[in-house]
Amino acid sequence: MESQQRSPLLAVKGNIELKRPLVKAHSRLPLPGRSFKRGRDQMEDVLEPEKKRTRGLGTASKFAASQPRAQVRTTVPQAQGQTAAPKLPKKTGLRCSTAVATVLKNQKPDPAAPAQKPGTAASPKLEGKKPKKRPAWDLKGQLCDRNAELKCYREKARTLDQENQQLQDQLREAQQQAMDLGAERRTLEEELSRVRAQAEQGQRELGNLSAHVLDLEERLSTQENLVEELQKEQLGLQEERRGLATRLEEQERRLQASEAALSGSQAEVASLRKEAAAQVALLAERGERLHWLEMERRRLHNQLQELKGNIRVFCRVRPVLPGEPTPPPGFLLFPSGPGGSSDPSTHLSLFRSDERRGTLSGVPAAPTRYDFSFDRVFPPGSGQDEVFEEIAMLVQSALDGYPVCIFAYGQTGSGKTFTMEGGPGGDPQLEGLIPRALRHLFSVAQELSSQGWTYSFVASYVEIYNETVRDLLATGTRKGQGGDCEIRRVGPGSEELTVTNARYVPVSCEKEVEALLHLARQNRAVARTAQNERSSRSHSVFQLQISGDHAGRGLHCGAPLNLVDLAGSERLDPGLALGPGERERLRETQAINSSLSTLGLVIMALSNKESHVPYRNSKLTYLLQNSLGGSAKMLMFVNISPLEENASESLNSLRFASKVNQCVIGTAQANRK
Ligand code: ADP
Ligand code: MG
Repeated sequence: MESQQRSPLLAVKGNIELKRPLVKAHSRLPLPGRSFKRGRDQMEDVLEPEKKRTRGLGTASKFAASQPRAQVRTTVPQAQGQTAAPKLPKKTGLRCSTAVATVLKNQKPDPAAPAQKPGTAASPKLEGKKPKKRPAWDLKGQLCDRNAELKCYREKARTLDQENQQLQDQLREAQQQAMDLGAERRTLEEELSRVRAQAEQGQRELGNLSAHVLDLEERLSTQENLVEELQKEQLGLQEERRGLATRLEEQERRLQASEAALSGSQAEVASLRKEAAAQVALLAERGERLHWLEMERRRLHNQLQELKGNIRVFCRVRPVLPGEPTPPPGFLLFPSGPGGSSDPSTHLSLFRSDERRGTLSGVPAAPTRYDFSFDRVFPPGSGQDEVFEEIAMLVQSALDGYPVCIFAYGQTGSGKTFTMEGGPGGDPQLEGLIPRALRHLFSVAQELSSQGWTYSFVASYVEIYNETVRDLLATGTRKGQGGDCEIRRVGPGSEELTVTNARYVPVSCEKEVEALLHLARQNRAVARTAQNERSSRSHSVFQLQISGDHAGRGLHCGAPLNLVDLAGSERLDPGLALGPGERERLRETQAINSSLSTLGLVIMALSNKESHVPYRNSKLTYLLQNSLGGSAKMLMFVNISPLEENASESLNSLRFASKVNQCVIGTAQANRK
């Protein structure tokens, strides 16, 4: 490669090296550069032998001696492959001829050559000892001498002419030679410049090649580094490979061991599969049994509820509130059941002193004792959790497909709202039945989902005031407004009822229920006025539509759970003077009393299995007709004030509740399809 790349330069160099010896060998002529520097002496050196030869040998020998020069002239151009310039430049020619002339001018006659001494060539006097001086008289002799001398001079002149002629020839030849030399010099100069150009070109190429070589060297070093790295990597990989080979061997050993174990395990797997199949069969059997048990539980649960009564009445007495007068001791008594104090209380005795009786006899009469018995009596200290515990099973009946209705009945301020929704301040201990019942339902529905049941819940909350229905879950501009809701059947021929313009909100967690109760409280607050606290004069109905599906068995059950906070049951004092406000109040009260007595009548009619049940007599019973009677279960809380001043109203409430308690409504049947 190097030789190839360097070949142009080497060729040039070679040419130069080859040409120099050629010039030196075949021509003794000076190189063009040198010839200009050569001085007169050098030129004399060149010409000297010729001069000598000319002087010594004459024209013929000089011509012969000049022949090699002619050969030189012709060989140089041939060696260079060029033709000599035909003419020498004038200047050079002049300089040469001047030099030759100068040489000739400086020539001195050789004292050794007798012919060259003037006047002595032909004269015997000149050649021998000095001739004797002829006597003056010897004119003839003198004339002879003079003739001889003349002859000698003539001879010499002829010789000199010849010599001159030779010198002129020589000069011409020298001039011709100088011209040839000039041509040769130009040729050489041209060649030199070409060679220089070639050398420069070669130099440039050499530079380029050097740069290329440097680049290649750099790349080589990079490649070498790379190779080094790769070698290192290779070493690492080899090491890794060795490690992997060792691990592979280890793995193979393990594999062999595993294979051995596997074959052992396969037999085990086969037996386990058999076992699993048996387990699956057992599981299916257990699932079937579980389902049967669940159905049995529902049946027994229902039976239990029926045994407890499809209409149950719980009495709850609220505590005396701060600032209220303490009732006289023994005003309300909670006698223990037959099982002693450990038995939950089911009796309540109210003692009321009859002032009229005392006045007639003149002696204060002993207070009259009124005894009541209910399914359960909660004295003032009973907590919300205790109360809920009693109704949790009833609430669960709604999940099993039995409609459930829970009422809170009592005079205003007796604790109905506290029982249903809870106490103020969001204290979890004071949470009422509605949030507790829903939490319980969500949790039981979650448990039942493992048995294939899927439940959904939709809530609504309405208020019935003066026989008009208002949505307590209304939002936006409808907030606090009322009267635009109507109770309608869902469709023609359908038993299912719906409240038009009321919101039905799907709920699935406690938070959503809390939000709904909060919204209902806000809606009530908007409608409240100083004189007329509407909430106590209206029924609040919280309805939860429960729907359960068992996809695997194609079962469906659905039932409503109703939690009703009834309007205050107090009556107006007939002795009070009736102003315009009181008249309005009277109308309200009559509406309330009418709807409450309709509720009582409906329950009675259902209990007596009358053909006509007056559901339509009030909006409340009309709305609740699907949750009363038949397959429904009903629980009524009768809320009682602990104050003596409320004794009359308390008695009324207790009497109403007792009547309800005596009712037994049909045999509940689950709404199953
Ligand atoms: P109602 O709804 O029957 O008019 P409320 O539920 O509003 O009566 O109760 C009247 C007051 O008595 C409220 O301040 C309530 O917090 C309080 N209260 C009612 N029941 C209880 C109870 N069991 N324990 C503590 N405070 C009660
Ligand atoms: Mg209330």
